[in-house]
Amino acid sequence: MIGLDLDKLTSLKVKVLGGIFLVFFLAIAMVIHGVLTYQRARLIRMNTLHAMQTGHTVVAGLSSSMLQNDREASMEVIKDMISTAHFSRISVLNKDGKIVMTSEPSLAGKILDKSSDTACIFCHQRNVSKRKRTAVIESPDKSYIRTVIAIENKPTCYTCHPKENDIIGLLFVDSSLEETNSLQKETTRRILLTAIVIFLFGVVLINFIVTRYFTKPLDALQVGFEQVGRGNFEYWVDVKCGGEISDMVDSFNIVTRAIGRYVDEVKAKSNEVSTLYSIVQKMSLTIEKKKLKEIVADLLCEVLQADCVTLALPAEKQKGIFEILTMRKGDKRHYHSHFHIESEAKLSCSLTRDELVYWGDRNFTSPVFSADGTRLLLPLQLDKMLVGLISVDKAAGETFTLPQRKIIPVLAHHMTISFANAQLYELAITDELTGLYTKRHFLKKIKQAEKEYLVRKKGFSVMMIDVDHFKYVNDSYGHPVGDRVLAQIGELLMANVRHGDTACRYGGEEFVVLLNRGDTTEARNLAERLRKRIEAQPFTIDTIPPFHKTISIGLSCCPRHFCTAEEMIKGADAALYTAKDLGRNQVVMFNPPTD
Ligand code: GH3
Ligand code: MG
Ligand code: MG
Repeated sequence: MIGLDLDKLTSLKVKVLGGIFLVFFLAIAMVIHGVLTYQRARLIRMNTLHAMQTGHTVVAGLSSSMLQNDREASMEVIKDMISTAHFSRISVLNKDGKIVMTSEPSLAGKILDKSSDTACIFCHQRNVSKRKRTAVIESPDKSYIRTVIAIENKPTCYTCHPKENDIIGLLFVDSSLEETNSLQKETTRRILLTAIVIFLFGVVLINFIVTRYFTKPLDALQVGFEQVGRGNFEYWVDVKCGGEISDMVDSFNIVTRAIGRYVDEVKAKSNEVSTLYSIVQKMSLTIEKKKLKEIVADLLCEVLQADCVTLALPAEKQKGIFEILTMRKGDKRHYHSHFHIESEAKLSCSLTRDELVYWGDRNFTSPVFSADGTRLLLPLQLDKMLVGLISVDKAAGETFTLPQRKIIPVLAHHMTISFANAQLYELAITDELTGLYTKRHFLKKIKQAEKEYLVRKKGFSVMMIDVDHFKYVNDSYGHPVGDRVLAQIGELLMANVRHGDTACRYGGEEFVVLLNRGDTTEARNLAERLRKRIEAQPFTIDTIPPFHKTISIGLSCCPRHFCTAEEMIKGADAALYTAKDLGRNQVVMFNPPTD
């Protein structure tokens, strides 16, 4: 509270108004003082002149009556003057200071001592001219103006007064100051009333002017500063005061808008950078092509607020075949499929065969938006390496925003790099002959599956496969034919395992499939289906008459049999040996030895 009051007291308005009012007050006080002083001096002067004139008349009157030594006539003259000229007192002093005649009987005969009498010391201590003496005598009981006129010693007076004397006495004409003082008071009262009215009017007027043209605009400006401080750059300070403050407010509004625009730009850039950062971060979570495709589809859906995203990536070593991934905003699931460029089948997405052909002929080099702005074709290309083609569709009536359009080329660049890296990685983990994953990749995957089981209790199965009497193929048709048989078996395996399963070449003519579920029946059924599929496949190589091959499969399931990667491999291997022992071309589930 104290702080608030102090703030109010030290506010600009209080200071300005306080200063103006103080000056105003002093000016009025000085005017009053000047007028009153002048008026008092004027009244005293008029009074004195009047007293002098009257005094000389009295002296003339007294001279004739004194010549006749008529004391009563002299007193009459004095009384006449008192009543006609409105003096308060007229006294005559002889040379010795004795009051010989006076209008006030109580003073008759009184001897005035010029060194001690209140009225006398006023002049005698001030060296006032002897001939024209006037003094304002202020005492607590009475205030008056005393005019002293010397009564000269003339030849006619020599009869009674020695001629060597210049003067024979003094005439005191006293005028009361009461009337002057009351006039003064009345004048003061009226001036004060006028001053108060002027002061109040002045206060209202100055307050209005200061508030309207000074403090109100400054308050509005202060609110503007507070709003800008809180980040509201749209705030507009509106004042109608004209002049410098108005110019200052205009400049403030212009600067605020400029800062707002700059902040928006910085925010947009920062959003762009953080979006890109999160995109790069998400894409760096995996190097596996399959997962990367899903991450990229999710990102495009999220960042570009797409309704449908389709990715088409050329399949490794399978010319004309594309790996397709489609996802829709409402569904969120990823649909994986393959598309052969020469097949009659229709692409189950917004991409068309013509677009893929056009892209394959290297005609797309940069993002292409449809005429209505609702669709984007995003080619991924690294130098001469064709990485893929993405189609992004917006919902009906929606178009790509400017920030989205700005981020797309950068996004495409990062995706291209990520897919190119994923492809290199895919090469590193792919067996060249069969196109299946390598043993090393299988070991990594089974370790992951082991962890998954520990954390989420998600089971898995291992299917160990060995081609029966494969040596015979080599021995009968030669090693290269054996290679081609292995490649075909690889293709058959890849085409017949489920999306989440991992088919690998374990070594030589041995294969392994890691199933992402631990159900024994499911594993047995899948193994049986594979076995039958291979058994039914006629191998036709060059001019060699078609021949058939069979496979033996050993199975182990987690958690039914084991929970660690090593035990699972060993278990499946043991089951495979059993299958061989039992006559080959069969599926054997790991069977723990009974005591
Ligand atoms: P079974 O497994 O039924 O007991 O008989 P098998 O003839 O398949 O016997 P085994 O597994 O011992 O022999 C594997 C043969 O596979 C030996 C080897 O010559 C051949 N082989 C291993 N790797 C390759 C390869 O990469 N290419 C070719 N062509 N042959 C291979
Ligand atoms: Mg073998
Ligand atoms: Mg074999």
